[in-house]
Amino acid sequence: MRGIKRLVRTFVLIALVSIVAFTVYNLFFFKPKVVGLEQLEKLPKSKDITLTVTPRNYVDLVKVTAHQGPREVILFKGRLPERTNQITFRVEPEELGLGNGPARIVVEVRRFYVLRESFEVQAIIDTEPPRVRIIYAPYVVRQGGSGAIRVKTSEDVDLYVEVGKVRFRSYRVSEDNVYIAFFGIPPDTSVREVIKVVAVDRAGNRTLIPLGTGIKRNRFREVTIDLTRREKFIRTKIYSLIGGNVEEMDFVTAFKKVNEELRRKDEERIREIGKRSRPERLWRGSFIQMPGSKVLSYYGERRTYIYKGKVISRSRHLGYDLASVRNSKVPAANSGIVVFAGDLGIYGNTVIIDHGFGVMSLYAHLADFRVKEGDRVEKGQIIGITDMTGLAFGDHLHFSILIDGHEVTPLEWWDPKWVRMRIEPVFSE
Ligand SMILES: [Zn+2]
Repeated sequence: MRGIKRLVRTFVLIALVSIVAFTVYNLFFFKPKVVGLEQLEKLPKSKDITLTVTPRNYVDLVKVTAHQGPREVILFKGRLPERTNQITFRVEPEELGLGNGPARIVVEVRRFYVLRESFEVQAIIDTEPPRVRIIYAPYVVRQGGSGAIRVKTSEDVDLYVEVGKVRFRSYRVSEDNVYIAFFGIPPDTSVREVIKVVAVDRAGNRTLIPLGTGIKRNRFREVTIDLTRREKFIRTKIYSLIGGNVEEMDFVTAFKKVNEELRRKDEERIREIGKRSRPERLWRGSFIQMPGSKVLSYYGERRTYIYKGKVISRSRHLGYDLASVRNSKVPAANSGIVVFAGDLGIYGNTVIIDHGFGVMSLYAHLADFRVKEGDRVEKGQIIGITDMTGLAFGDHLHFSILIDGHEVTPLEWWDPKWVRMRIEPVFSE
């Protein structure tokens, strides 16, 4: 009997010691942390803040206060909601009587009603949205065409041009907040679309203004391509593009896979490469077209592919196909730096030259390259020779101009007058 009693007493004692040890351990070694404090560093006109308290054990109160001079304002005070360790609150400095300038934000986490941990953030309150003044903008831009703007803002901002869902970045060209941006009008953009300029300052205040540049309709050709007679040839092309065990795949499925899936993937890759432009102007004057070449197909062309009398696929042609004699020399359309020289799926062996400020030129279906990534090239320098690598049905050069990774018609860039009238003004102060 006494043995059992002693055993129970020992057990209870061990249990109590464990609970105390566990609690002490939790309290002193598992102090809560607050994740997301950096959101408080810049406070615009209105901002939703989400803070995560981790671990949430024993936390019974979270209090966030802002201190500015003698003023102290509560931004949040309350418990952590059930089953979550996050609190969300909105900060609107003007409503709280806080002025623009520095403020100290204190986040206090209380446990067991007595233990407090506090975290401090030095914040900058800026509720003033940036002012945006357009110095130069074109009056009108065609579908598939390009435009350039020069803008001055009241403070340092992230500025971009929005055309439908597509955003074109800008480049800051002077200390007093002058920005230039090049943009393109994707060929399927509605003529009713309003081109916008968006500026976001360091605190997150956003100003959006319509650019006032109109969009003019452009007629794109409709082209039907009958694959039936060329099935054998195309089959070998497709299979070399997909690779692996596609022999069992039927022709239509395989063609769609290349013309749609692979095309989309290659386009994404071009977009991504197109974002790596340098913030400086590397080109001069108009761009050159491959000499002695004849246009096989135009920018914006809508292609319908037919097989055995049925429409099986569609695509949009986003460059110019230029043909000359077999294995013609391909010159760089303008000066720049090679950002890509390699295999690019349906585009085959491809070179992309960065001309700076978001403008690039692309040369596809080449035989090989005379340049490599990082090379500086001069206007007219031979960068490769034509061939029919990738999804090309004959020897030609596929040539595109990219703006921030989006294809635009090269026609304008080949035209010295257009370059002088529409592009040069953004560089003059
Ligand atoms: Zn082409």
